[in-house]
Amino acid sequence: MRPDPHPYYHQAKFLTSCAQLLQLPPDQGAEVAFVGRSKAGKSSALNAITGQRQLARVAKLPGRTQLINLFTLDPIRRLADLPGYGYARVSDAMQRHWQNLIEGYLQRRHCLQGLVLVMDIRHALTAQDQQLLGWAAERGLPAHALLTKADKLSFGAAKNTLLQVTKELAGTSVTAQIFSATSYQGVAELHQQMDTWLGRFKR
Ligand code: GDP
Repeated sequence: MRPDPHPYYHQAKFLTSCAQLLQLPPDQGAEVAFVGRSKAGKSSALNAITGQRQLARVAKLPGRTQLINLFTLDPIRRLADLPGYGYARVSDAMQRHWQNLIEGYLQRRHCLQGLVLVMDIRHALTAQDQQLLGWAAERGLPAHALLTKADKLSFGAAKNTLLQVTKELAGTSVTAQIFSATSYQGVAELHQQMDTWLGRFKR
């Protein structure tokens, strides 16, 4: 069932798209970034947590899929939608561009407080997912694995996958949860994680 609008996250508004790190807005305030394999369900997850069908659609416009798209939540906090990876037919040059952009963003963006790694629960923790977690770990950036499309599995199978992933991530600071943009399962849990990273209730 569609939950009631969240008074904070539903305020999200498109800010800008950046093809290069130099185009990013000033490195101030706090950002939480979303990344994932193409088609994993990142746009649907962003739409579900902000209650806005239009939000991640911006990122899907032709020519925008390789950009970092930023959304404001309030004057000092933002969401960053990072370009997806794992396209079957991208050139080596495109792949290098993606790697430089994402690695640079993850390692040099000081206002970045946490990374949500979106994975299809049926194909969790690919080699590229692990590489991203590695980049995050290199600078001590907290990460959260979002196992989405959980509605495609039975309750038991989804729980088992979560256990498996948690086991694989043992010894790291990466957390994990089950999610579904279709049933809205896990939306409140993700909001809580983001609240913590964005320091919304810090005094
Ligand atoms: P993105 O490329 O990572 O942004 O992926 P999208 O959000 O566009 O999702 C890719 C496909 O998976 C679309 O057909 C979505 O409708 C579908 N999808 C995304 N999230 C879910 C989910 O939680 N449950 C189900 N059943 N389908 C989903």
